[in-house]
Amino acid sequence: MTDGEGGFSFEVLEQDLAGRAGRLRTRGRTVSTPALMPVVNPNLMEAPDAITPQELSDTFGFEMVITNSYIIRRSDRLREWALSEGLRSLLGFDGVVMTDSGTVQSYIYGSGSDTEVDVDPLEIVELQRDMGSDIGTILDRFTTPDTPRAQAERELATTLERARASMEVNGEMELAVPVQGGTDLGLRRASAEAVREMGAKYVPIGGVVPLLESYRYPELVDIICTSKQALGGALPVHLFGAGHPMFMPLAAALGCDLFDSASYAKFASDGRYMTRSRTLHIEEMQDLPCPCPVCSRTDAADLRSLPPALRTNAISRHNLWVLRTELVSIRSAIAEGTLWELVEGMAASNPRMHLAVRGLLKWRGYLATAAPRSSRRFMCSTDLSLARPEFERFCKEMAPSFGPIPGRNDLVLGDHTGAHRPDIVSALRAVYSTDRRVIVRTPLGPVPYEVFEMYPFSQMVTAPEDGLPPGLAAHMLEANAAIEGLPVLDEVAAGMETGTQDGLDTLRVAMIARVQFGMSGGRYADEMLFGTWKDPADLPTRMSLVVSKRTGKLRNVHLRSPEGPGVHVLSLRAEDGLFSLKWEGAVRLHAGSGPDRWRVIVEDDTAPFNGRGLNVFNKFVAGADPRIRSGDEVMVTDTQGVLYAVGRAVIDGPTMVQARAGIAVKVREGREKSLAEAPPSF
Ligand SMILES: [Zn+2]
Repeated sequence: MTDGEGGFSFEVLEQDLAGRAGRLRTRGRTVSTPALMPVVNPNLMEAPDAITPQELSDTFGFEMVITNSYIIRRSDRLREWALSEGLRSLLGFDGVVMTDSGTVQSYIYGSGSDTEVDVDPLEIVELQRDMGSDIGTILDRFTTPDTPRAQAERELATTLERARASMEVNGEMELAVPVQGGTDLGLRRASAEAVREMGAKYVPIGGVVPLLESYRYPELVDIICTSKQALGGALPVHLFGAGHPMFMPLAAALGCDLFDSASYAKFASDGRYMTRSRTLHIEEMQDLPCPCPVCSRTDAADLRSLPPALRTNAISRHNLWVLRTELVSIRSAIAEGTLWELVEGMAASNPRMHLAVRGLLKWRGYLATAAPRSSRRFMCSTDLSLARPEFERFCKEMAPSFGPIPGRNDLVLGDHTGAHRPDIVSALRAVYSTDRRVIVRTPLGPVPYEVFEMYPFSQMVTAPEDGLPPGLAAHMLEANAAIEGLPVLDEVAAGMETGTQDGLDTLRVAMIARVQFGMSGGRYADEMLFGTWKDPADLPTRMSLVVSKRTGKLRNVHLRSPEGPGVHVLSLRAEDGLFSLKWEGAVRLHAGSGPDRWRVIVEDDTAPFNGRGLNVFNKFVAGADPRIRSGDEVMVTDTQGVLYAVGRAVIDGPTMVQARAGIAVKVREGREKSLAEAPPSF
């Protein structure tokens, strides 16, 4: 397969936690991810009032469906139709069509053994290919949970052998190669590595339905995280059979891009009515607590009194609306950077989900490998928030760059929620005109006031300390142990005159740059930008600040020059209190840092295009600092290390190296534009 027009490709467009919004393209059709594909049974499509694939697309907006090639194979009429006219004609559906191979049938009817499904593994792949399936699935072995390791290992070997053979016969059809391995995480990792190495471009995580059905969610979290770590960030990942809205936000946050649902119809046939966080039974319902077109036109009693087939279809349609609504919520949360809030909210409404999300505490490191370093909001509502990557990053990345805490003359501001009160701000200015520093006591730990405006400190929303949930309160107490007993700001500042010098603002610039960018080769970024400094009083001689006339807030940072305003190196972003890097700022970081730090390295013949201001495409990325996260400021160089552009990373460094489609960096300024605009030198 090629990545060219009409071929198969997957782009990551936005990231939040380990989740992402993306775009899957195949044969000229596009699917926005996270996506859900309803399972279509071609045997049931022609019944009166049946939900047709066309309705799934036109009314519900689903861009992709999945159907079972094993079912089609068993019916002469359906098989002949699909082979002569194609699957899209059979289904009456113009979107992307995926097919399954019969593995699930073998799980349901054959107790995990495929001997009951009398189909040849290659023949079923060829059939999917010949019916015009966009994405076909190999006949993998469904390993059930708790299968003894030796047996699970044998089954995995069979799956991989079939995958290799299937890849010889799939033709133009893309092939889904599932990760198996049961509940053995070592086998899951080996399976994911093998699937990636053999070059699969579409990867389901299989064998998880029994875990979902028995609410073994924490184990499922371990399986997803283990598989995803081994698969890397560039491949689209499909969680096979996970079509309940309750589990979807968490699965999406862990990096699952595609879901399928047979449950919408299966549940409906048993009278089961989905809600976001649980399943109700129509026999026990008084009202229909849902604004969907079905529920707003009828009530529970009427629904119950319908003939069975109509009742099933009505509940199926309701279930589809619930699934669609959840999917839209997930997509918009990723765009807003509030996926954590969605996941934590789901955990609060169902104890089984609470347990699953608590399982993320051990996967904080994994979440931090992809999660952007800033967001719109940072809500700490329950103890589960301790699994947010911000807690991990605070300890590992941020706190080490603060300098020793407590320092010689430090004071403490006891309540972080009061740091914006006018009397506190005035007291802070007074204190900073002396040689004192203020440390803010936050739920993450002690934070120097000069970086308090940057994400996540000012953006954090929590209850006051005496109202925090017990785990967060205990964490806050322990994290702030070093500053217990320091003199308190209010007491020391009482009677001091309000400071007038701008020492605090220039110190803020230097320290935010230090914490945001970190270090390279033993030097911090602020020293590369403004020169080495020991005394904050030196900083006003190094930089000049441009303040917004309207809001009074810092906007731009220039290097101070005796002749004039000096070059513009940084701009402060209002939304997260972090800096955007200007060309002259990038030139200084480039000169001061090691060969890979903050860098996206592109192929030499494409670098000049980025120099003219064009965005960086993943397929031209030759290397990238693995520490880069979505939203980070980065420098674009060629393989010789020549700086061509500065911009903002769209996706994390490891993913941009692996990915073949999509944009890696949105370029803000290129070398040529800067050269053209630079003032003449004398
Ligand atoms: Zn409804």
